[in-house]
Amino acid sequence: MAVLDIRIYGDPVLRKTCEPVTEITPELLKLADDMIETMYEANGVGLAAPQVGKTIRLTVIDPQDDVETNPNYDYPLVLFNPEVIESEGSDVFEEGCLSIPGVRRNVTRPQRVVVKALDRHNNEIRIEDDQLLARVLQHEIDHLNGVLFIDHLSMIDRLAVEPQLRKLKTSKI
Ligand code: ZN
Repeated sequence: MAVLDIRIYGDPVLRKTCEPVTEITPELLKLADDMIETMYEANGVGLAAPQVGKTIRLTVIDPQDDVETNPNYDYPLVLFNPEVIESEGSDVFEEGCLSIPGVRRNVTRPQRVVVKALDRHNNEIRIEDDQLLARVLQHEIDHLNGVLFIDHLSMIDRLAVEPQLRKLKTSKI
């Protein structure tokens, strides 16, 4: 396994719509393992393929030892072609992103989601949650559509983080 470079805000790859996976190859499984290692190294709870420069519908998730961790699933989750098929309610929670270091803001999202995806064995799985896992799933699936959590902010919050975003965009990390 290898730790990959995490792409930072301003990198155009973060705005790309990712391609569906048609076949789960050994290369894709290796990428998933590298992403898991990268996520743990960065103390993240989720990582999506475009964050390591790959425009593929793949995300890895591990809410880790958070008290809200849903114990029903085997972590770390490896999800190919994840898709929200049901959502309901509304919840406000502070989010951050490994690609937008230093920026944390409240984001409103549906509280409960059902997500359908393929696991690493090419089995279709369904994940249902209304806690931290639901939040992470929605954040990571957004990445696969080129959407970042800052896109969900109110205009006032967006203006408040704009100087930090500008700095990230122009820094040569
Ligand atoms: Zn993110």
